[in-house]
Amino acid sequence: MVVTRFAPSPTGYLHIGGLRTALFSWLWARRNGGKFLLRIEDTDLSRNKEEALSAILEAFDWVGLDYDGDVVYQSQRFDLYKKYIDQLLEEGKAYKCYMSKEELDALRAGQMARGERPRYDGRYRDFTGTPPEGVAPVIRIKAPTEGEIVFTDGVKGEIRIAASEVDDFIIARSDGTPTYNFVVAIDDALMGLTDVIRGDDHLYNTPKQLVVYEALGLTPPRFYHVPMIHNEQGRKLSKRDGAMDVMEYKRQGFLPEALLNFLVRLGWSHGDQEIFSREEMLEWFDPHEINKSASSYNLDKLLWLNAHYIKNTPNQKLAKLLEDFGVSIGDHDRMEFLLDATKERSKTLVELAQNIQMILEAPAEYDPKAVKKAFKGEAFEILRAFAAKLREAEGLHLPSDYHRLMEEFVKEREIGFGKIGQPLRVALLGKMSGPGMDEVMAILGKEETIARIEKAIE
Ligand code: GLU
Repeated sequence: MVVTRFAPSPTGYLHIGGLRTALFSWLWARRNGGKFLLRIEDTDLSRNKEEALSAILEAFDWVGLDYDGDVVYQSQRFDLYKKYIDQLLEEGKAYKCYMSKEELDALRAGQMARGERPRYDGRYRDFTGTPPEGVAPVIRIKAPTEGEIVFTDGVKGEIRIAASEVDDFIIARSDGTPTYNFVVAIDDALMGLTDVIRGDDHLYNTPKQLVVYEALGLTPPRFYHVPMIHNEQGRKLSKRDGAMDVMEYKRQGFLPEALLNFLVRLGWSHGDQEIFSREEMLEWFDPHEINKSASSYNLDKLLWLNAHYIKNTPNQKLAKLLEDFGVSIGDHDRMEFLLDATKERSKTLVELAQNIQMILEAPAEYDPKAVKKAFKGEAFEILRAFAAKLREAEGLHLPSDYHRLMEEFVKEREIGFGKIGQPLRVALLGKMSGPGMDEVMAILGKEETIARIEKAIE
């Protein structure tokens, strides 16, 4: 069985880099009928884990990722970690180090002056003497001193690190609290992880975690280190580029389907396909196919995907979603026309809401440029005549009914479509852009259309 996990440190919200690794892990577990677990890495107790969890769950809920079993909090497992620390001490696989901060600083300074990488020199590794007074020891694990630490990464291939690169690192601080690499290895093993998919900023933590697995006789999972998301300039994604709270995407009018589709393609591909339904992602996603190089965040692509999903969302559902954007059209008797006329030209729900408001609200003012272009010559007279024709007409309902009426009108008066189309557009919407007049009239209905014409020419 495949078991994956998402293991965020509680930063208060979930950002899109985190959501991408969560998505990859979730897809891989679900594709294999396995389990997707959630662990909150809150060993730094100063942070509020409830808040962090609710922010993550809110985002998971919005995009539709679910997890199995109970959430595991590292902050509730200190006793367990302590047990393993004691076990390693007893077995002589870890030891107490009494080096003071000053001594450690001096060691580092010397190493750096010689151009070496700072590393602990193992001076308490085989210490049997009397410990110095007044120093609370840290616990260090005995890392191998010779050979290499080798593992196969599912994305990056074989990784070989000289043992000399990994020093006897600290597994418990002087106050007894365990350190990151130690607890991650224990939890991943005890939670039964088979596949760990995470950012490649953790790649060089893995050899350390392997030292822990080895010392405790635990079996490591398969690792997949996912390259970072870069901005379009090839640098690390910043908040300004889009590395923001996932829920901010919701507030900006993105659909979760679009965001997930966007994220799955950041670092993974399936031929040259761009649009993936959830079912397709679940059928094809494979972490072994994740790109070795960084992926590039492209806002235009996200907008393009969002436009695609908006266009393909049923109107009833869109109407419901628009409520969050201050637009209530669920009971509008021409809701279908309204959305058909606007959803094709909207890249976000915010834009869609604006496009709808633009039609529903009578123009408070008329764009001077449009007025100059459209309200000239006999425009008012034509509008007046058209309003009269509207008033007489019956059974106007569909855009095609209005279209027919306009056709008749231009034929009777022997004028081109533009002669009525342009002034009508400005009278109804106050400007030159927007959806077709047939649709707009069908949305407004006969009475409102006439009222807007009259107001424009009064
Ligand atoms: N808690 C780590 C983070 O948020 C992730 C650890 C891991 O995936 O192993 O970066």
